[in-house]
Amino acid sequence: IVHEEFGRNHETAELHVSNEIRDKCRELILDNDKLKKIMEVFLDNVERGLKKKTHSTATVKCFPTYVQDLPNGTEHGKFLALDLGGTNFRVLLIELSGEHFEMKSKIFAIPQHIMLGSGEQLFDHIAECLAIFVKEEHVQDQRLPLGFTFSFPLSQRGLTVGILERWTKGFNCSNVIGNDVVTLLNEAIDRRGDVLIEVTAILNDTTGTLMSCAWKNKYTRIGLIVGTGSNACYVEKQKNAELWDDVDMGSGNVLINMEWGAFGDDGALDFVRTQYDENIDKHSVNPGKQKHEKMISGMYMGELVRLALQRFTKENLLFGGKGSDMLFERGRFYTKYVSEIESDPPGVFNNLIDVCEELGLKHATEQDYVNIRYICECISRRSAHLVSAGLAMLLNKMGEKRVTVGVDGSVYRYHPHFHNLMMEKIRELVDPSIQFDLMLSEDGSGRGAALVAAVASRLQKERRV
Ligand code: BGC
Ligand code: MG
Repeated sequence: IVHEEFGRNHETAELHVSNEIRDKCRELILDNDKLKKIMEVFLDNVERGLKKKTHSTATVKCFPTYVQDLPNGTEHGKFLALDLGGTNFRVLLIELSGEHFEMKSKIFAIPQHIMLGSGEQLFDHIAECLAIFVKEEHVQDQRLPLGFTFSFPLSQRGLTVGILERWTKGFNCSNVIGNDVVTLLNEAIDRRGDVLIEVTAILNDTTGTLMSCAWKNKYTRIGLIVGTGSNACYVEKQKNAELWDDVDMGSGNVLINMEWGAFGDDGALDFVRTQYDENIDKHSVNPGKQKHEKMISGMYMGELVRLALQRFTKENLLFGGKGSDMLFERGRFYTKYVSEIESDPPGVFNNLIDVCEELGLKHATEQDYVNIRYICECISRRSAHLVSAGLAMLLNKMGEKRVTVGVDGSVYRYHPHFHNLMMEKIRELVDPSIQFDLMLSEDGSGRGAALVAAVASRLQKERRV
């Protein structure tokens, strides 16, 4: 330690975040009083989503999924999976035999014009990618069960029926909302006529995440995504899931897809939202929607930082008042920059210097570095703290003694402090008698989809017998 201090640049060691920036960032800090207030309103929202009488007007929908059974280890065979709704679109081929797992996958781009085009174009594109993949893998002549991870709000009517409620995360294809996406996929496959599949399950990425963790850890009761978007699912008692209308599940439990990204769409979060949040929302493809998600997830985090940097530059508090074209360009400050900047040890700005260079901000000073890092920390902490409040609310509501949360998503995975920030904050907010942990899920949307498809086809076979 002595050595390090000795070697340190004296100026850097003495630099502090400038007072004006610290003051103006105060609105980004959610203290525990605010977080507890959020938990209270959130719980009320969840209850409204679950109840038949209030579901239609609730903002947090809490859709029952029709995922009934967890894998029991006897699933075997080849399965296909599709994963749509994150950073990438993927097609996967998975082979299961007992504990053994083999997987091949291919990533395809979804170009912007398809994300904003017609539903028919989107599903034709998906079917085409699937056809290319099964031919490459030489399974085009087998009718394989397929699990479709479709990570958007679905109102489910069965394991293979999902009506799209709204688009999120930059997708906005016409003629899909209100329709069953499995039908749309099957129709696109029929139009081609060169692929054989059987969609045996459609699921959310949070569900896949929960499933793939539950396969390894029996305390898993919550699945969480903090990636391009954000959402959670959890195990609810059947008697509380009033929308559930299927046969008794035996277990007495129903898996609920909360769609927590929509929290705040009725103004419930306005008391903590800032001008940056307003700006993001106004310029998004879904204004007024997914307000909670927009404060949390990777699709928006970098832009939130950029908006703050832009403001402070214009107010002459950063870069000597002189920005750059790129700094003032929407979407140009990537969320990965936040993770990179915060990966530098305190007082070191290697990654930050690279980011400034990339953005044409070579004139940034050490004082700017200190301030920029602070702004990143405020935004990423706020995100981690909102997620923590949501989880603490759920853990308290569930009332289980011990719960493992399966987590996935680029923000959770790549932000260097997100996990620790969450552990610390949940501990402060949750009932002290509850034991919890956060477990990184291994590819929930791929492996989880295969597991759900596998369980479904095992049950189908058992029923036929
Ligand atoms: C979607 C959810 C999804 C989450 C994470 C949200 O935008 O509405 O269904 O689970 O993103 O991918
Ligand atoms: Mg994913």
